[in-house]
Amino acid sequence: MNTWKEECVFLLKKLGGHAYLNEIYKEFEKSGTRPQTPSFDASIRAALEKGSRESACFDGEELFYMVDGKSKGHYGLVNYVSNQIDLTQEDDEFPEGKLMLKKHLSRERNQMVITKSKQKFKEIHGHLFCEICGFDFFKVYGELGNGFIEAHHNKPISEMNDNEKTNINDIIMVCSNCHSMIHRKRPWLSKEQLKSIIKIKH
Ligand SMILES: [Zn+2]
Ligand SMILES: [Zn+2]
Repeated sequence: MNTWKEECVFLLKKLGGHAYLNEIYKEFEKSGTRPQTPSFDASIRAALEKGSRESACFDGEELFYMVDGKSKGHYGLVNYVSNQIDLTQEDDEFPEGKLMLKKHLSRERNQMVITKSKQKFKEIHGHLFCEICGFDFFKVYGELGNGFIEAHHNKPISEMNDNEKTNINDIIMVCSNCHSMIHRKRPWLSKEQLKSIIKIKH
């Protein structure tokens, strides 16, 4: 079973990246992923609170933000825009696709691993850039792009069991375009595969 947080991430994705609590409850009811109990809305609310920096219950894993500020019940998904991978696009050829993507994205949101792999990458290369096309957000966007890069988990989730920890060596640094292209095909392309088809290098 998914954790409540994973459930919330999934629901917010479905709802377009942000939603009010009552919409989230409704969507959850529709999804039927869990038996309905009288306390499910409290569980959802708690998961959203824990994942929001603005909340007193914040547990350090930043997944959500409060769109209109505290106590407005409007929640957004952190990094939603930069991680625009459309869940509705999953096709029938890969029935496991939705679950795989959900797990994949949750691994890519594991902030501790991501922060460590970014740090390591910076130590080795001196700056952050896309490992596939070389795009450097700082170079192009200046201060706005400083420190920005997306992380992609290069090991197929199908080959991992649920309890396996994410190894920082399995994380690659990618720009938003390359990340979307990796996920465009099923099964997902590897770093090497995408590198070999790319035509323009930054
Ligand atoms: Zn790239
Ligand atoms: Zn990815």
